[in-house]
Amino acid sequence: MARKKIIAGNWKMNCTPAESEKLLKAILRKYKPKKGVVAVICPPFTFIEKAAKILKNRKVLLGAQNASENENGAFTGEISTKMLKAGGVKYVIVGHSERRQFYSETDLIVNAKARKVLETGLIPIICIGETLKQRELGMTETIVSQQLDGAIAGINEADLKKVVIAYEPVWAIGTGHTASPEMAQQVHKFIRDKLKLVNSNIATIVPIIYGGSVKSDNASTLLNQPDIDGALVGGASLNAASFMSILRTV
Ligand code: PEP
Repeated sequence: MARKKIIAGNWKMNCTPAESEKLLKAILRKYKPKKGVVAVICPPFTFIEKAAKILKNRKVLLGAQNASENENGAFTGEISTKMLKAGGVKYVIVGHSERRQFYSETDLIVNAKARKVLETGLIPIICIGETLKQRELGMTETIVSQQLDGAIAGINEADLKKVVIAYEPVWAIGTGHTASPEMAQQVHKFIRDKLKLVNSNIATIVPIIYGGSVKSDNASTLLNQPDIDGALVGGASLNAASFMSILRTV
């Protein structure tokens, strides 16, 4: 079975609802669905419900940038996976490096979030990746390995087939420094080989997407690599033309 290609736009903390609507409508005006390619947008929470209405019967899917690992209750400021599902969300980014860095999310929390997302019937996009210092110390594989093992611990094989892994070297996020296609491919292959140790079928099915300063001018060489199954796009997803041109490269 051919793996799905996924291009997901992470809008981060940008765009008011009015700006979000303008951006989404601009994307939809240019969007032509392609077989085997899944387009996902992850807008701010304040636009989720409106986005779901606009996306009805369109082939762009809705994602969230985060979710609580808890079911419900006294967790001020948090949002639950059930709320997101009711709002039309299909994908949830978990373990983004900005959450790990600024909100102290550990591998344990990332694992709890991924499990909660799956339990709710949604798909986690699990982000893993090393910092510049870790890369320079030759620790890329150790870190990626630890984060992957931590994130997927205890997830059964049936659920594991549903997850998406995003390899996002921290030093490449929002910096304009992209990993070279060869550098990214090497880590993607490492991740796929690790998944093979769990189950070779899972390794064949699970999309491993790349994130870190993906732009229209570098997307095609990255996406041509055999183990790169798409992209998680931050900055360039805030511009309809750039996001569309990345989508067109797959
Ligand atoms: C991201 O937010 O996941 C990301 C990869 O951002 P950027 O494309 O801006 O580097």
